[in-house]
Amino acid sequence: METKRMNATAKWYSNRLRSSRRGFLGKAIGAAALGGFWAEDTIQAYQNNVRTASKPSDLKITDLRVAHVVGAPMRCPIIRIETNQGLTGYGEVRDGASPNYALMLKSRILGQNPCDVDKLFRRIKQFGFHARQAGGVCGIEMALWDLAGKAYGVPCYQLLGGKFRDKIRLYCDTDMSRDPKVYGERMKARFEHGYTWLKMDLGINLVEDIPGCVTRPLGVTQRSSGQTQHMFTGMELTDKGVELMADYVGKVREVVGMDIPLAADHFGHIGVNSCIKLGKALQKYNLAWLEDMIPWMRTDLWKQITDAVDIPTLTGEDIFLKEPFIELCKNHAVDIIHPDLASSGGLLETKKIGDAAMEYGHAMAMHFAGSPVCFMANLHCAAATENFLVLEFHSEDVPWWEDMVTGIKKPIVDKGFATVPDTPGLGIEINPDVIKQHLAPGSEYFAPTTQWDKETSHDRIYS
Ligand SMILES: [Mg+2]
Repeated sequence: METKRMNATAKWYSNRLRSSRRGFLGKAIGAAALGGFWAEDTIQAYQNNVRTASKPSDLKITDLRVAHVVGAPMRCPIIRIETNQGLTGYGEVRDGASPNYALMLKSRILGQNPCDVDKLFRRIKQFGFHARQAGGVCGIEMALWDLAGKAYGVPCYQLLGGKFRDKIRLYCDTDMSRDPKVYGERMKARFEHGYTWLKMDLGINLVEDIPGCVTRPLGVTQRSSGQTQHMFTGMELTDKGVELMADYVGKVREVVGMDIPLAADHFGHIGVNSCIKLGKALQKYNLAWLEDMIPWMRTDLWKQITDAVDIPTLTGEDIFLKEPFIELCKNHAVDIIHPDLASSGGLLETKKIGDAAMEYGHAMAMHFAGSPVCFMANLHCAAATENFLVLEFHSEDVPWWEDMVTGIKKPIVDKGFATVPDTPGLGIEINPDVIKQHLAPGSEYFAPTTQWDKETSHDRIYS
């Protein structure tokens, strides 16, 4: 009787495990049990000989390497974190940033369990700062989520709390032309290609060489003032300059129509009063937003512009961590926030940023200019954040951009949208052939980085 029951139990386990992904293990355990031999150490022995990626609690980081891609169209350092179970996770340092921002953090995460994403993020976030200086912290955070998702067999959006949407709306940047009709036609082509949201450049470079358009100290130009904050350049638009820039937008609107959202960026380093004058002149063209008119940290000045102009204002692509976003939102200093996930703190911090903005009634658009690795991180975050509006896409004109990755349905970008994948982690693997064709001169494909293994300092930020 006892033998009969034992055999029935063994048969159930055998059938159940045979039908599972671990068919080999199932058969082995079933066979062992059928023989009346059900020892724990036998199961362990079999587990030691099969893929052990199913043991997330024992996962440990063993390596961090970089493949530095150029021309995508930006420079994109892709990072790979390796583990003791053969799982690899991918992340990306912010476009244009040094890979060393990630490499100097390697010694701080070696031997740690990558599934403890928030714990590791809090350990390394002291080494991030605004804009590109956050690139290493955010790139590692992405790779940790990729690993955690792969270890548990779920997509990153699920780890963030699930989806609000299946498809992510994209807005497309377009190379500018001084001829507004040409620029309009270029953007109309985007619209005909399926994009439902456009963005244009609208800088004072359009008018600064025309006499009587920009008042400024002799010798100061938009180019020469690049390192000087807007309020300190002494450059102000005249009524004529404002009128010509507004006419330019009017001619673009004649081509693309008034129905499609059209945002504007790269105004140049002009003072707050000029921003307000220009903003008011643009109201009749109903732009989707005025982006980064002044530096993001000038909350009070932003509020002056936002209160004076009836077009949404937007900033945030260079902000690290949620606190400055909360400061902008609680003051209603801008209408829309615009984090770049590779600067703002990664997937979880950016979801927190979106959620915090929503509490104050503000939407979140997302800035992005990287490779498909960071793009996937953006998709999962955008899917999991309720007040998400639209995600930037910079690489419509880079033919090999999607070829950098495999393991995802192509095209990744389809008629102005991207589908959120259901595969584990970020949902992509790297295509070595394509990455190797576009490496930064002098760099190697995921070369060893042992020189960073022992990097150390007394890092506590209080005494
Ligand atoms: Mg921008």
